[in-house]
Amino acid sequence: MSLEALPGECPDHPQEECAVFGVFALGEDVARMTCYGLQALQHRGQESAGIAVGDGETVTVAKELGLVTQVFDEASLAALDGFVAVGHNRYSTSGGAASWEAAQPHISAIDTTLIALAHNGTLINTDEARERLSRQGLHFRSMSDSEVAAKTIGIATQRTHHLREGIRRMMETLEGAYAMVIASPDSLYAFRDPCGIRPLCIGRLPEGRGWVVSSETCGLDIVGAEYVRDVEPGEIVRFNEEGMSAEEGVTPRGRAACIFEYVYFARPDSVIDGQSVYQARREMGRVLAREAPAKADLVLGVPDSGVPSAMGYSLESGIPYADGIVKNRYVGRTFIQPTQAMRQLGIRLKLNPLPSVIAGARLVVVDDSIVRGNTSKQLVSMLRDAGATEVHLRIVSPEVRWPCFYGIDTDTQEQLIAARMDLEGIRRFIGADSLAFISLPGLRSSVCADHPGFCEACFSGEYPIEIPVPIRKKSFLSKTA
Ligand code: SF4
Repeated sequence: MSLEALPGECPDHPQEECAVFGVFALGEDVARMTCYGLQALQHRGQESAGIAVGDGETVTVAKELGLVTQVFDEASLAALDGFVAVGHNRYSTSGGAASWEAAQPHISAIDTTLIALAHNGTLINTDEARERLSRQGLHFRSMSDSEVAAKTIGIATQRTHHLREGIRRMMETLEGAYAMVIASPDSLYAFRDPCGIRPLCIGRLPEGRGWVVSSETCGLDIVGAEYVRDVEPGEIVRFNEEGMSAEEGVTPRGRAACIFEYVYFARPDSVIDGQSVYQARREMGRVLAREAPAKADLVLGVPDSGVPSAMGYSLESGIPYADGIVKNRYVGRTFIQPTQAMRQLGIRLKLNPLPSVIAGARLVVVDDSIVRGNTSKQLVSMLRDAGATEVHLRIVSPEVRWPCFYGIDTDTQEQLIAARMDLEGIRRFIGADSLAFISLPGLRSSVCADHPGFCEACFSGEYPIEIPVPIRKKSFLSKTA
């Protein structure tokens, strides 16, 4: 379901962990540019926001719980003066609930020099590194995996006196998904795990004014930067007064870009690996119309990410598309706790049907995914209450049967309805007249027929980076898996 969870609510769709953004631009207001970049990437995390700025001498950080516009104002941006900046939006998975300590960027000291690190993804083997660093006398302020990365880089840099060597050491020792940016007092660094699971792209400001890195291209667009290329898996890229330089940090492994970015996480106006997210979503709808046709009067999309796919389904099937569901854009993006009575309204807080469109019609309803199934059940019931005579649910991702350990919060298999029920069981639970999911080959071909390789682990159970046994035991239904 394409909806944010309300505060205190168990989310019924995958939740993205974070967004990262960075700027190196002499003579520019880099804090303000980072603030704009983070606003463009707000969909990737809404629990906390932070910006760190380097001014040639030191690094200053400001971070707080809340949305970017709640955390930063004119006064706080004016206090962040410098020419290199990194920023972060957080959705907590690893590191537990929202807390100031877990908010990023994380600051780490290298002798007397500070660096600030921002991370999108999840590291899966930080326990050992945390213990080792604690034995060396380092103090941790949070349970965040990103703080372990920042401290690992800090201590290795202290030894080698080269930040790139510190980053390389972290890349050699810590496993998992990471797209990271670091601001030192005078340089910006961007680097990515050897499988390239989470996205990270590079842009250039006009007239040679500087460089920008962003989780998605929509972050480049908002500051007027032109897309140059993606940070390659395993690569370390540095930006400083001399320009951009890149080198291999660790040897790239089999490419495994998260395919769910195209289905749900990324903004439709972003381009990942040369593929428009919007066009991919349209194509998913077309493929699903061929794979799972339905007899109906109207095609509806569940806002926001289901809408382009619904248009694709309509184009392919010839069934007219209609705007029959309206989304309340702001209710999920708040820290105001709903009362229990409000919470019982469930999906009504976020979506409202248009009876004037729906009443008396047989509907095809296109959505991005089903994780726990509760929201889909409420959606079908709400559409019937609004007068739909039939509801045929079509989902543009395959069944989510396996947890994700690479930056998404579906951390146990028990939570996943498709891991516990077959298709007919899910259909009955949800109460739809028919239910169909796109096939994995269908999804793949919708995104890009000749892509070098996707992570599809939440559909297939084939994890590109091995999951440590203790995590498997805790998270999988079969403890021997
Ligand atoms: S397991 Fe699924 S959500 Fe997680 S990185 Fe892989 S494709 Fe993306």
